[in-house]
Amino acid sequence: MTKSAAFAVPDDKLHEECGVAAIYGHPEASKLAYLSLYALQHRGQESAGISSSDGTQIYTKKSMGHVADIFTNSVIQALPGPLAIGHTRYSTSGDTVERNAQPFSVQCNKGRIAVAHNGNITNAAELRKSLEAQGAIFQASSDTEVILHLVAHSRETTMAAALRDALLQLEGAFSLVFLAEDRIIVARDPRGFRPLAMGKLEISGGKPAYVFASETCAFDLISAVYLGDVQPGEMVIVGPEGVTHERYAPEQPHSQCVFEHVYFSRPDSFVFGRQVQDSRDLMGRLLARETPAPADIVVPVPDSGNSAALGYAAESGLPYRLALIRNHYVGRTFIEPSQAIRDFGVKLKLNPVRSLLEGKSVVLIDDSIVRGTTSRKIVRMVRNAGAREVHLRISCPPTISPCFYGVDTPNKSELIAANNSIEEMRRFVEADSLAFLSLTSLQKAVADTRAEYCYACYTGDYPTNLVSIEQLIRAGKKSGG
Ligand code: AMP
Repeated sequence: MTKSAAFAVPDDKLHEECGVAAIYGHPEASKLAYLSLYALQHRGQESAGISSSDGTQIYTKKSMGHVADIFTNSVIQALPGPLAIGHTRYSTSGDTVERNAQPFSVQCNKGRIAVAHNGNITNAAELRKSLEAQGAIFQASSDTEVILHLVAHSRETTMAAALRDALLQLEGAFSLVFLAEDRIIVARDPRGFRPLAMGKLEISGGKPAYVFASETCAFDLISAVYLGDVQPGEMVIVGPEGVTHERYAPEQPHSQCVFEHVYFSRPDSFVFGRQVQDSRDLMGRLLARETPAPADIVVPVPDSGNSAALGYAAESGLPYRLALIRNHYVGRTFIEPSQAIRDFGVKLKLNPVRSLLEGKSVVLIDDSIVRGTTSRKIVRMVRNAGAREVHLRISCPPTISPCFYGVDTPNKSELIAANNSIEEMRRFVEADSLAFLSLTSLQKAVADTRAEYCYACYTGDYPTNLVSIEQLIRAGKKSGG
């Protein structure tokens, strides 16, 4: 029996990794949204969409595929107006279909509204069930649509009040950007799991434009200035009357996702107010201090291991060598040769530089081990290229629990670190030695002096209650059957 058949829960919604952007008050808003999404492409490559408003109407274009392929000049021309929101989405399992692409746009009793979401609403299945019992009809299986139904069902009469009402019923992770005809409203969940930055773009001879994005690398591309983050539990409304900051939920402990700094965000971004490169450099330095390796060279697994490997090399004094070369043009589908080639998938993406590796003892740096299968192929590749020894170092602790807050991790049963000792993992990946960064060092690396980060994937301590049977099974807290 499939998970969704057993619990009537659409299972794709648990695995969304996304990027969002919003622009207020710029004559080329949809073009800036497009550029922002272009910079956020790494946060999701499956589908992308933009909604714009010219003050009277909302226009939407969304499709499967990459941002640059979807948004041609003529498509952007058909998204007029000074307001726009955008979304880029990646989902690995379940329903990878166009109807789940965002933004979602509806006409409801509060007016026209479009929404784009990064995160995962942990009580979406329960909310959906109760909305369906009240007659709501859903078009997609994504949890984001639940938010629009909550807005439509709210007794409040204004858009902002109905949104507030809806947000207070949500649990889990959400960084949201809303587009109404004449305003942009953005919000972050009270724990602040996922990032959302605010920026300002001066326009000569006019009022400044305001911009929002998952990561500040989007601001750099459009020459916007980073003003700071939308705060956890805060809603920011930008309309004809100006900018309003409002706390919509009571203060809660913060649970910023540490994996944004470990892997997900770009190193050139400021996330949760901190440059991601600085965190990764320190992860690498602390890893070198905690787990030195008898090696001749430091080799990153590109691109995920690049920044931590720089720190490792600097701290250890070992030379940094780009001995694995990444092909950047690998799409999601490719034609495989009919005769199976061993480790074809990894070979397509990475190739070793034999002259750098031959006869060397290598310390290989990567950001994380999830199932362990990629690491094994890479270790084999490095050894086959002539390395004498391969010491694998991982710049975060072992991943032992799935994420319910918007990062794609498999069930506990598929996480190699949840079911094996470090020595067993070492044997599986065929490395001469294997070591991970400690949790204490990871906390130091992200400068978490006030316990503001979520480490649930490394500890199994979830900051919110797991509310459905499916979540408990995925977390290994209840057996399936
Ligand atoms: P594996 O251990 O074979 O499952 O693959 C682990 C690799 O996948 C790591 O080196 C990461 O760079 C990458 N990775 C880890 N987490 C994610 C994620 N949530 N989404 C996409 N890639 C990831």
